[in-house]
Amino acid sequence: MEDRRILVGTGRIASWWVRDLGVAVVLDEQRRSHKDRQSPTLHPRTILSHRARAEGFRFLTTGPVPSSEVAAAGTPIIGSGRRWARVEVVDRTEEPPGRGVLSDRVKAALHGVVRSGGTAAVFTHRKGYAPSFRCTSCRTLRRCSSCGTAATEAAICQRCGGSLAACAECGGAAFEPLGAAAGRVRDVVARLIGPDAVGGTGDGRAISVVTEADLVALPPVDLLVVVDADGLILGPHFRSAEAALALLARLARLVRAGSGSRLMVQTAIADHDVIDALRIGDPSGFLEEEATRRRAAGYPPFGDLVVVEVRGEGSFLDDELALFEGAGAIVFGPLSVRSGTRWLLQGRDLGRAKRHLRDALRRLRDGGSAVRVDVDPLDV
Ligand SMILES: [Zn+2]
Ligand SMILES: [Zn+2]
Repeated sequence: MEDRRILVGTGRIASWWVRDLGVAVVLDEQRRSHKDRQSPTLHPRTILSHRARAEGFRFLTTGPVPSSEVAAAGTPIIGSGRRWARVEVVDRTEEPPGRGVLSDRVKAALHGVVRSGGTAAVFTHRKGYAPSFRCTSCRTLRRCSSCGTAATEAAICQRCGGSLAACAECGGAAFEPLGAAAGRVRDVVARLIGPDAVGGTGDGRAISVVTEADLVALPPVDLLVVVDADGLILGPHFRSAEAALALLARLARLVRAGSGSRLMVQTAIADHDVIDALRIGDPSGFLEEEATRRRAAGYPPFGDLVVVEVRGEGSFLDDELALFEGAGAIVFGPLSVRSGTRWLLQGRDLGRAKRHLRDALRRLRDGGSAVRVDVDPLDV
């Protein structure tokens, strides 16, 4: 009889050699936990997709929204698209300022769920995550005028380092937050509904205030509210929009089937294609747009990105940088980070540049520097 075995494990098993492998599956391919911070870090989907071609096994992924990589490679996806709850978009530009983190419509919906004996969850940022802001005079979302990233209270853009001053739309200088971390949202809901109705996951209260880490333990609910979708969609990384859609679709799947059940998404960018895809329950239009944007910018999967973090004093030499650039890489850096300096190499095809990079890294390591290399990083 044939020997049939299923091997289950974390991302690391993507590199294991297995005799006569028939099929490899990455479950919920868009979850961030698939990629660890070891050096050099490659996503298991990248490893398995290459191996599948070289070794001749089938490679599949699952999840509500495929990544651009998987979509571009034509990797078969199980369970993508549709099959998520009704989505109600709450446009925050339609209401006057001073409403706080929950709109009137969301407040009414939460009251309604509690009255009817149902359950709700309110999803917000984890502690330490900055909410997005809107201008109190023209009500538009505060964004960096050079790169479009959602602006926080800080004076400097998290993505491009540009300075953020007045509202890019109207020149106004007063802003109010559209979201808050879980602790503050819990206070708001407790004041609104009553302290006994609010808790965390699994403590049997009518309303749970949750962050991404709580989702695995969250039972299905009748109403799920996303407090601040914009900070996710217009986040500082090139993958932010795609990751936001995957997360929002995952949230929509935590809503119990039933009349009146829904995902309510608070946003000040209701015409964004992430919101569109979510509303119609189909990520394909978004993925096409995203592919066009990535191709134009030279981002993966249509271009290569490599991040190098050098701990301590070491740095690339001028002639090393010239070799990288001669091999087709655009080099950004050095940017000061907590542990040292960070460099970014970007280009349509970094094959030749990577060979020069390998030599330069050897020199740095020989000189005593600790170096971390992230190929195709999630957070750039
Ligand atoms: Zn304004
Ligand atoms: Zn910017």
